[in-house]
Amino acid sequence: MTTTVAAYATPAAKAPLERTTIERRAVGEHDVLIDIAFVGICHSDIHQAREGWGEAIFPMVPGHEIAGVVTEVGPGVTKFTVGERVGVGCMVDSCRTCDNCRAGLEQYCAEGPVWTYNAVGKDGQPTYGGYAKNVVVDESYVVRIPDALSLDVAAPLLCAGITTYSPLRHWNAGPGRRVAVVGLGGLGHMGVQIAHALGAEVTVLSQSLRKKDDGLRLGADHYHATSDPATFQNLAGTFDLILNTVSAPLDFAAYFSLLRTDGAMVNVGLPEEPVQVDLRSLNGNRRSMSTSGIGGIAETQEMLDFCAEHDVAAEIELIRADQINDAYERVIAGDVRYRFVIDTATI
Ligand code: NAP
Ligand code: ZN
Ligand code: ZN
Repeated sequence: MTTTVAAYATPAAKAPLERTTIERRAVGEHDVLIDIAFVGICHSDIHQAREGWGEAIFPMVPGHEIAGVVTEVGPGVTKFTVGERVGVGCMVDSCRTCDNCRAGLEQYCAEGPVWTYNAVGKDGQPTYGGYAKNVVVDESYVVRIPDALSLDVAAPLLCAGITTYSPLRHWNAGPGRRVAVVGLGGLGHMGVQIAHALGAEVTVLSQSLRKKDDGLRLGADHYHATSDPATFQNLAGTFDLILNTVSAPLDFAAYFSLLRTDGAMVNVGLPEEPVQVDLRSLNGNRRSMSTSGIGGIAETQEMLDFCAEHDVAAEIELIRADQINDAYERVIAGDVRYRFVIDTATI
């Protein structure tokens, strides 16, 4: 039997989000019921709610930065008990048998993971995300939030945190490595903190110097404005890794010129339009360009433990549910320091 739950949903592409109710499945053998306390607003929520990434499923309850408390467990659950503080990120299931799933890369599941919302679950029903009072998730796709992290500032780690942690680890951000983070938004402000905690020399490349004090406080060693052409002249050949978190296309050739030999530009920002790359601009010093998608479940747990150990968390602006539509406009306008988080008590 399903239960009826209060949520915020968008009924159609580009329509405002409004309060409604959704049905959650009954708690199954391996499921946990999570009372959601806080949920972050990721720019991906906006891309999807407005169909910027293509056709979507409506009504849509976005939200994949979920932090809450376990209130019920199915009879087969072994990982969690009632009362534990937990998180759910961008996926709630995957095939579990393909090479990627077995390697802890569930985000690259050969069959495609079941996304937390805007997807169809294994039960054939649409998935609904975290802008809601609760959620039912298989325990294998739930992670533990360490005691040192408050739930409100932990919520954004479930997407912004892991999406920056995973490529920073994969491309060996650490002592002796120069890392640039492009865009100081939700993902960017996590990337700066994590790269700094990993021991890298960190540079922020932002459109302006407006947020310079914040960037340096978050752990950046240097901060430059990309609107200043001198930035590109002065920093030519500097970086081992450029982590691009920008949600719009960039002049990629200009950024490639900032890479050292064998340097990589890794794009986690996912613009709505195809981007153009002149391969000759990559060819100079065996540079490479890649993307990276969130991170696996075990790596997400590792990231949360790392953040707790290194005193890293999101800087948030806590909002009521009836402020979601305004928050979306502010994210698009770049007016957020650095993540909106919804207090689900207000739903
Ligand atoms: P966000 O908070 O809006 O941050 C993006 C930042 O990019 C802005 O704060 C701004 O920083 C910069 N920016 C925005 N528009 C720009 C433009 N036209 N030119 C140059 N810089 C611009 O968004 P977010 O939540 O961090 O998400 C960023 C992107 O990552 C989105 O496309 C999102 O869908 C994607 N994403 C991908 C994954 C993944 O798994 N790959 C996961 C989560 C999110 P400055 O003001 O400092 O320039
Ligand atoms: Zn996200
Ligand atoms: Zn799989």
